[in-house]
Amino acid sequence: MIVIMRPQTTQEEINMLKQKIESENDVTVNVINGKECSILGLVGDTTKVDADKIRANEFVENVEKVQQPYKLSNRLFHPDDTVIKVKNASIGGDELAVIAGPCSVESEEQIVKIAQDVKKSGAKFLRGGAFKPRTSPYSFQGLRARGLDLLKIARQETGLPIVTEIMSADMIDKFVEDVDVIQVGARNMQNFELLKQLGKTNKPILLKRGLSATIQELLMSAEYIMSEGNENVILCERGIRTFETYTRNTLDLSAIPAIKRLSHLPVIVDPSHAAGLWWMVEPLAKAAVAVGADGLMIEVHNDPANAKCDGQQSIKPKVFEQLMNDISKIPGKTIHKACDTVNV
Ligand code: PEP
Ligand code: MN
Repeated sequence: MIVIMRPQTTQEEINMLKQKIESENDVTVNVINGKECSILGLVGDTTKVDADKIRANEFVENVEKVQQPYKLSNRLFHPDDTVIKVKNASIGGDELAVIAGPCSVESEEQIVKIAQDVKKSGAKFLRGGAFKPRTSPYSFQGLRARGLDLLKIARQETGLPIVTEIMSADMIDKFVEDVDVIQVGARNMQNFELLKQLGKTNKPILLKRGLSATIQELLMSAEYIMSEGNENVILCERGIRTFETYTRNTLDLSAIPAIKRLSHLPVIVDPSHAAGLWWMVEPLAKAAVAVGADGLMIEVHNDPANAKCDGQQSIKPKVFEQLMNDISKIPGKTIHKACDTVNV
């Protein structure tokens, strides 16, 4: 961190600030006296230094951070990609991690059938919302605890690990027991109390980017989970709000190479919530794989026209099968089908 002093600040005032910063933080301050102004260079762990507090000093012109405020998720201190193992599958390794399933669990028949279909096409995880974060309180809220039971039945039938969204900290014990990957949805990305509590578990956490969150804010939310001890965090780009209204959100493809550069954590893409249009899922999924995503999360429904939630953006199992075949031809990660391996 660098503190730029205002011109004409005296050496005495500079020394006072140097001593104040050193006494309040675990850092050493080096003073560089320039012709016009002086600069203080803070050396050490600056993650806990309050830049705004220093900025409030009347002799300070500005404070610049040279280090990122996130440490545990930062690739600088962990050059190798993190690979998160979930049962027989993994996220972040050589294989493309594909999570597929309906927006919400609706019935045993529905979730088991979709699970079987997506597994056949090469999905490695089953998704399905039991507790749904809906904009309107009058919309379908999910089957809740019954939805979790049905996901467990689908897991038993197919062996696919289950991914589902948690909405409040009081459900953590139940989710830790029942679920393989706990999803934190876009609307809860900055529910810091929830993140801290999830950090005390050792379950993989799928953290979706908030509707208007910057990449740095997403990484800081990952940091909340990791700083409590749980380093099993998977990031998910799912589109952000822009001025464009044609699509539900705008898929920020540039976030993938950006996050891969800044962090060692695996990054997946959800083209379904990004576009909000079923026919756009295929091209966006391909683009996501092409820019280096570690996986995809795709909404698949056997009867989208009658889906209780997000039917307009759900693809049918046949379309999903075709998409998986097409994606296996894109250079990069491999897709292993239930009985064969497609090399790319
Ligand atoms: C979901 O994946 O079911 C979901 C609600 O997504 P998001 O939090 O990205 O809106
Ligand atoms: Mn949905």
